[in-house]
Amino acid sequence: MTNVFLRRKIANRIFNGHPWIFANEVERVEGDATPGSIVDVFYGDGKFCGRGYINPKSQILVRLLTRDKKEVIDEQFFFNRLAGAWAYRQKIGYTENCRLIFGEADEMPALIIDKFNDYFVLQTLSLGMEVWKPAIVKALQQIFNPKGIYERNDVPVRELEGLAQQKGFLSAPFDTSIIINENGLKFHVDIENGQKTGYFLDQQDNRRAIQHIVKGADVLGAFTYTGTFEIHAAHYGAKSVLGLDISENAVAQANRNAVLNGLENIVHFEAMNAFDVLKVWAKEGRQYDVVMLDPPAFTKSRESIQKAITGYKEINLRGMKLIKNGGFLVTSSCTNLVQPDLFLQTIEMAAKDARKKIKQVVFNAQASDHPIVWGMENTNYLKFLIVEVSDK
Ligand code: SAH
Repeated sequence: MTNVFLRRKIANRIFNGHPWIFANEVERVEGDATPGSIVDVFYGDGKFCGRGYINPKSQILVRLLTRDKKEVIDEQFFFNRLAGAWAYRQKIGYTENCRLIFGEADEMPALIIDKFNDYFVLQTLSLGMEVWKPAIVKALQQIFNPKGIYERNDVPVRELEGLAQQKGFLSAPFDTSIIINENGLKFHVDIENGQKTGYFLDQQDNRRAIQHIVKGADVLGAFTYTGTFEIHAAHYGAKSVLGLDISENAVAQANRNAVLNGLENIVHFEAMNAFDVLKVWAKEGRQYDVVMLDPPAFTKSRESIQKAITGYKEINLRGMKLIKNGGFLVTSSCTNLVQPDLFLQTIEMAAKDARKKIKQVVFNAQASDHPIVWGMENTNYLKFLIVEVSDK
């Protein structure tokens, strides 16, 4: 067994339960550090810290899988983790669709698995997880007897680990255009070519939060992807709903979803750049009862947080200007680099510049199937806010 010894003086992060060990926190490695192999990690005083996988090619040298000295990392270990994660999702109320494994939050660093009824989409984002992919697939087969398993490893972060980007079947081939049920509605999910794993499960609980404010409303949604929020709005009694997304593909899928739910007379989607259009429409004096914004992460690095804040402020300012006195703004941010306090401050700045008074209705994080583990800042990433907006 290879042993990794940490420096005596390291950040409390590891001690407090965070699974990442950076190369500059390591004093020495005893034994062979074959990329992707399992190693034991010890604190500077020689006490056992945890067991995980090593990759000398990555800045994160080791990611811990367990803190239990007696726990062996083998096929059974992965079966147990997946079965445990599923039991937890069921306990908190998920039945058909959920993020089954949310990486670090499920003590499965760099592994993502989304469950779309009988289909599973997975991402192994580190070499150590890639090594165990067959064990993970086997565990999925044993626990769920699924209709299909697909890998969406076509993501650039894999390259930091020396891994190629790739996607494809991990089970017998199947039709990757599937339909899921959510909150009594149906949605097409394109597992093979959709964004990320095909569908944003992280907003599934928040989509119900608009139920009351959209009744009889004229609704504008921007950054709609496949139209989930907008179709919920129509279902919950909106008078009219217009959804905008820059991607022609997303818009086509969103319009198909409207038809799938028999709501095509109420909701429709157009391919437009929301940044440009919202500005023009505000100038023209267009007004809506409810405006919903769910933009992509404006930053992936700490260096450009300021740019992201400017982006969030600008789009929310434009959105607020389009809202009738006493209407509602439904707004989200999905980057962990902008933490909740900072997001709220940004919305406050936007309201000030738009000369609007805001009253908080709902402030949520991501759906509970993406657990937030306290002390692991990067598991707390999504902000979802509803405010009433009135003239000053
Ligand atoms: N609300 C969606 C998720 C949105 S993801 C859901 O719940 O499923 C963000 C979306 O913003 C993506 O679909 C992307 O195509 C779109 N987007 C990115 N830049 C845009 C722009 N300038 N104007 C409009 N849409 C944009």
